[in-house]
Amino acid sequence: MNDARFDRQLPLLGAEGQRRLRAANVAVVGAGGTGSVVVPQLALLGVGRIAIIDHDELDESNRNRHFCARYNDPIPGTRKVDIAQRMVLNYDRTIRVDVVSSSLLSRAGFEAVKSADFVFGCVDLEGVRLVLLELCMAHNKPYIDIATGVEAGPPPIYGGRVCCSLPGGGCLACLGELDAAETARDLESASQRRDREAIYGIDKATLGAHGPSVVSINGVTASLAATEFLKLCTGLAKPTRLLRYDGGMSRVSPSRDVPVADCYYCKGLGGSAEGVEVERFLPRDELQPPGMTVSKQKRITHE
Ligand SMILES: [Zn+2]
Repeated sequence: MNDARFDRQLPLLGAEGQRRLRAANVAVVGAGGTGSVVVPQLALLGVGRIAIIDHDELDESNRNRHFCARYNDPIPGTRKVDIAQRMVLNYDRTIRVDVVSSSLLSRAGFEAVKSADFVFGCVDLEGVRLVLLELCMAHNKPYIDIATGVEAGPPPIYGGRVCCSLPGGGCLACLGELDAAETARDLESASQRRDREAIYGIDKATLGAHGPSVVSINGVTASLAATEFLKLCTGLAKPTRLLRYDGGMSRVSPSRDVPVADCYYCKGLGGSAEGVEVERFLPRDELQPPGMTVSKQKRITHE
């Protein structure tokens, strides 16, 4: 790599900060609207190893906001992990990129998170956020979660938030950023879902209803998260636990909420990986063989 590549950020980060970025192994769960903004920024900052986890394929309706998609990527048939990996390698072919083209709730997904130094959650489901939180706190990983919200209104409401969950230092759960009902619904078994729907009917989320999603709002929120990671990784500053972005008011503000002193997740789990059965969240057919299916540096055609 050309030594001058990072000349414009070295005065801020210092040689040691840049070295820490190069040494970092960062897992990004979700390569969609916000993940596709985070991954290229990690590559440009100089992170040495990136794992990208997503089971989804590119859809026509993603094209308004997916930074890694090209006009001629075929639909169907384009995995989001592959175009994110392509983007990284277009910037810097010395970066190691591992892709996991399955759900986080798979053995390969868990292994990629467990071997990372930092974890980004760029997901839509509260249930996946909870699993990530438990996995990261049990294994002592800083977990940076991104959420965006757009409601068409009236009045329209749009913005996002970034939450840095740190072992021992506050998290999504004790800062009140996890919706308990949604989390339970996301993680219920097929039979629990049938029972609930028999009583309450089928809800909008199950029917696949999606809210609006806008590239600039995703971009601001994901860039705030990338900057909190930068602080944490290089030691530039202490990261902010919870940041809120209000698009309508053009305002970014740190939350004054105080974490709960005896939080089960960030205080109780404290690196107790052996004592925590996070694997209970894995589907039954994933519980037995530990076979990793992570593919490394799969060759991608460059134009
Ligand atoms: Zn907590």
